[in-house]
Amino acid sequence: MLEYTLVASVLCAAACVRYLVMTSAYYAVVYKHFEKRWAKYKIEPQKPTAKDIRHEIKWGLLNKVNFFFYGLLIYWLYDYGHLALYTDWGAYPWWYGWLIIPVLLFLHDAYFFWSHYLMHTPVIRRLTRHDVHHGVRNVSPYSAFSVHPAEGFLEMAFRPVILVLIPIHPLTLGIFLIITFALNVIGHSGYEFFPRNYPSSPLTRFGSSATFHYLHHKNGNTNFGLFLCFWDRMMGTMHPDYDAFFDERAKHNPLQLPEKMDGSLFRKKGWVNSDRPEEISAP
Ligand SMILES: [Zn+2]
Ligand SMILES: [Zn+2]
Repeated sequence: MLEYTLVASVLCAAACVRYLVMTSAYYAVVYKHFEKRWAKYKIEPQKPTAKDIRHEIKWGLLNKVNFFFYGLLIYWLYDYGHLALYTDWGAYPWWYGWLIIPVLLFLHDAYFFWSHYLMHTPVIRRLTRHDVHHGVRNVSPYSAFSVHPAEGFLEMAFRPVILVLIPIHPLTLGIFLIITFALNVIGHSGYEFFPRNYPSSPLTRFGSSATFHYLHHKNGNTNFGLFLCFWDRMMGTMHPDYDAFFDERAKHNPLQLPEKMDGSLFRKKGWVNSDRPEEISAP
């Protein structure tokens, strides 16, 4: 029992450190160090208030209690040989270890979309206390996973299921966990750095963005996806002004994505934002 408690406590502590380090690093770079230079990329001009940040950090850390409970469950599954984890990289074809990352991202996003969609129905919203996550409308990196533990419990239920059902190498799992957390931080960052045409280009049409999730916090009844907007496009829950709103925010970006899969893909000019507004020099 002591061994189980120790493993779960280490997982819980590591999750707290990961949350504080990754969110604070993004915040320090974007909101502090490059605050003036990158102001044009800020989706909403106002900065989040200190009260907002305190609210997010408090719930971001409280939610980590789930790592203790799920740590116990996952270690028990491991102890009794129920996990499909494999340590011999050669046990599967070399491409399997890499291909499983986008597959997991798609599955995780599908789980998130549907559970999040249900969280916006009255009963599940109350049960999961989803209002805690919507307590802040002007999001910041600290909003990532800043949810009530009841919501976090539902969101994390995906993890033991995939660990039992899908063979995953620990390296693949580690990369997947870093990518999911990074995408969550970027999605909540409040800054849009993705190139112009991102929502309309066939290369990235189904990808999520900071603007995409910002509109969810602003509007509440659209944009339920997390890493992707695939299900929102399929189910008609995409914010109707998303594309235009995004391009307005991205007009300063020197890069743009090709709008069609034609010759522009191979021309340098096709990737440069020629409509970019003139830089306004400091007085
Ligand atoms: Zn959010
Ligand atoms: Zn929501």
